[in-house]
Amino acid sequence: METVVSGIRSTGNLHLGNYFGAINNFKKMQYEHNCFFFIADYHSLTTHPTPEDLHNNVKQVLIEYLAAGLDPDKATIYIQSDVPEVTELYLLLNMNAYKGELERCTSFKEKVHKQPDNINAGLLTYPVLMAADIIIHKATKVPVGKDQEQHLEMARTFANRFNRLYKTEYFPQPYAFNFSEELIKIPGLDGSTKMGKSENEGNAIFFADDPKVIEKKVMRAVSDQGPKEPNQEKPQAIQNLFNLMKATSKPETYNFFEEAYNNCQIRYGDMKKQLAKDIIEFTTPIRERINDIKNDNNYLQKVAKKGKEKAMDSASNTIKEVRSIIGFKHF
Ligand code: AMP
Repeated sequence: METVVSGIRSTGNLHLGNYFGAINNFKKMQYEHNCFFFIADYHSLTTHPTPEDLHNNVKQVLIEYLAAGLDPDKATIYIQSDVPEVTELYLLLNMNAYKGELERCTSFKEKVHKQPDNINAGLLTYPVLMAADIIIHKATKVPVGKDQEQHLEMARTFANRFNRLYKTEYFPQPYAFNFSEELIKIPGLDGSTKMGKSENEGNAIFFADDPKVIEKKVMRAVSDQGPKEPNQEKPQAIQNLFNLMKATSKPETYNFFEEAYNNCQIRYGDMKKQLAKDIIEFTTPIRERINDIKNDNNYLQKVAKKGKEKAMDSASNTIKEVRSIIGFKHF
């Protein structure tokens, strides 16, 4: 049995990228492994949410995790800020995380570009907090999307560095994980390569989207005039539609449109209609479950409390051992 950790920032509603990058893999693992799934609310502070938004977003993400199939009787589902031990490990790891390597991190460079007025130290040390989230449970597998590959490499660096510094093998190596051969990146509908919660309007399909909204978003997805010659390489926006179809439609549907594309007979209107239908079919049970549990505060409280207890157990054990390895001692 391995230890598995994954998390999602509480910065907005969950989308198909979150599902195929993280949740889907975790769902399959929760029955066989020691699994922790958390809501990353400390991480969300880098964007300075208001107190109400902070709380409502955490609640919404918890509802959507459960609706998407995470099972609180199998996995430990918890809120990051309920386990403050993670911040102690973050501090300790920060002492051996260097400015140069943090500044070279792709996600940091993207943030510098996107939000030049708010380049806070939390953004710079984001990979250190993420490493603490993972290694606090001594996880070896981390179901994440392709965008997190570099962060996982950094988590291994920090775990290794701790081990070397204190001449121990305390922390195991955590690896990004997906059941398919490669890590997944679900594209946006706006022609961009990544579906994300804070991208342009119309980029992402959220679990909570109404079928009419899904249809509108898919029908408006960026496409082009169609291929001019057989077997032509697909431009990015068209490849995006095919990638989305691969994730959500049946293989025969995907093959049908792939063949039509290669024969120059594709009609994007038909392809989008089919894609919208398949996405609606896929998300409807999740949406229904969101509506079933969203007002059941009693149930949500119970799940969060149970998760907190289990996660605290694991995290406080690690912190106790880490303190002793480092040399903190009571008089
Ligand atoms: P975030 O929403 O950025 O907090 O990401 C939470 C999890 O969802 C991480 O494991 C990401 O790798 C994954 N994820 C987010 N967007 C995508 C995407 N477009 N494709 C695949 N995985 C994604």
